[in-house]
Amino acid sequence: MTTTVSTDLCDDLGLPRPLAMPDWWHHAACIDIDVDVFFDTDTEQARQVCAGCPVADLCAASAFVEEVESATHTFGVRAGMTAEERSEVMRVWLQERGIHRRRRGRSA
Ligand code: SF4
Repeated sequence: MTTTVSTDLCDDLGLPRPLAMPDWWHHAACIDIDVDVFFDTDTEQARQVCAGCPVADLCAASAFVEEVESATHTFGVRAGMTAEERSEVMRVWLQERGIHRRRRGRSA
C-alpha cells in the first residue's frame, strides 16, 4: 500500500491525517489508564473511555493508517472500535475502490 491509500481513506472518512498532529497521544483520555481495558473481551469500559477522548478522531485515523498500510490484523479497541469493526470499515472502503490487499501468507 502507498501513503495515498491511507490519506485517501482518512479524507473519505472525514478524519484528520495523523501526521498533522504527531503528538496527539499526549492528549489521549487513555494516557493514564491500564491498557488491559482495551484488550478485554468486554469492550464497554474501553468504549466509554474513547467516547470522552478529545483526540478520538486522530486515534481513529492513526489506527486506520497503520492497519491499511500494514494489512495486518490488530487487536483491541481503538477510537471506540474493535479490531473487527475497524477491519470492516476498511474492507468496505477498499472494496468500493477495487483495491485488493494481501494479508500475511494469503490474499485478502
Ligand atoms: S480514542 Fe480511545 S484508544 Fe484512542 S487515544 Fe482516545 S481513549 Fe485512547
